[in-house]
Amino acid sequence: MAQIRIENVRKEFGAFTAVQSSSFTIEDGEFFMLLGPSGCGKTTTLRMMAGLELPTSGEIYIDGEEVGQKPASQRDIAFVFQMFALYPHMNVRRNISYPLISQGMPRAEVRRRVQEIARILGIEDILDRPVGGLSGGDRQRVALGRAIVREPKAFFMDEPLGALDAEFREHMSAELRALHDRIGATTVYVTHDQLEAMQMGDKIVVMNHGVVEQFGVPQDIYDWPATKFVAQFIGSPCMNFLDFQGAVAPGQGSVALSGTDCAMPFLREGSRGDLTFGVRPEHITLDDSAPYKGRVAATEYLGTTQIVSFDTPNGPVKARVASHMPVRTGQTIGLRFDPRTVTVFDANSGRALL
Ligand code: ATP
Repeated sequence: MAQIRIENVRKEFGAFTAVQSSSFTIEDGEFFMLLGPSGCGKTTTLRMMAGLELPTSGEIYIDGEEVGQKPASQRDIAFVFQMFALYPHMNVRRNISYPLISQGMPRAEVRRRVQEIARILGIEDILDRPVGGLSGGDRQRVALGRAIVREPKAFFMDEPLGALDAEFREHMSAELRALHDRIGATTVYVTHDQLEAMQMGDKIVVMNHGVVEQFGVPQDIYDWPATKFVAQFIGSPCMNFLDFQGAVAPGQGSVALSGTDCAMPFLREGSRGDLTFGVRPEHITLDDSAPYKGRVAATEYLGTTQIVSFDTPNGPVKARVASHMPVRTGQTIGLRFDPRTVTVFDANSGRALL
């Protein structure tokens, strides 16, 4: 197991900066997600931690030892690729045991370890089958087996489930998380799928354009997004944004939103200027006595809940409410925002004002 710390790590490819100066710590035994849209620099960050890419500047520590300029072979880690690279001419047992045999481990010990891994992964009955004819899921398990059999300090996984169909992907992600909980090794996992990150991760780093936007536990990232980008990227439908000109006078702690007074005691006193008011769809209640009104533009039935789209004086707003609530297109309804669940952003920088 291992603690991994990156400090002011930066990566340039020629004139292009793929990762801006980034710092965060992955604690021993954590399942850690690197999340962001395509091209944001998450794979490059992972490859630098694994030693497959060298940082242009900054330091990478594994268990306190600075390894930034060391190759992968000297870092005692295992990398699981998306296109699980197996040796097609070997059977499952040979594929899994290969890393141990090439280290010169005694045969009896190799046999014991392979058997143990096969039991954990539930693939004991296919050990003697050639990998060529296996299903995607079994191939993925064999690739995992080959990665964990060396008992490395940490695992690095780059969209390992990306090639699987949706149903199987969900099954494998639960299996991966359960496997992690059994063996407890630090795992760093790249994904662009916010749901996968929220479901699997102990902690998440959200990246955009080579910049770490936020770092924390899933619930904090969901409830208290540090930037508008994070608020938009996490959650479906995403957070609503309402732009307005506001000012919070010292000692007053409330702002006006198109005629509505919303007390926001957490807002930093003296905040002023162009503000964006962020509220999640599930934190809006429909209440005819609320002074802030919206006109129903559409409804989307989702079983236990429905998404109601409103036109409001500040633009479109979506609310998630119980599906039994009667709502008609064209109807005007009062919307109530619970100020304790509202995030206020500086409209220009996109940063949360907390
Ligand atoms: P994806 O999910 O699409 O892989 P990502 O977030 O993992 O995206 P990276 O693969 O880290 O992103 O790439 C970040 C940026 O750096 C991209 O614009 C990519 O084109 C660029 N890049 C990555 N590797 C190289 C390289 N070897 N040479 C030049 N540019 C590169």
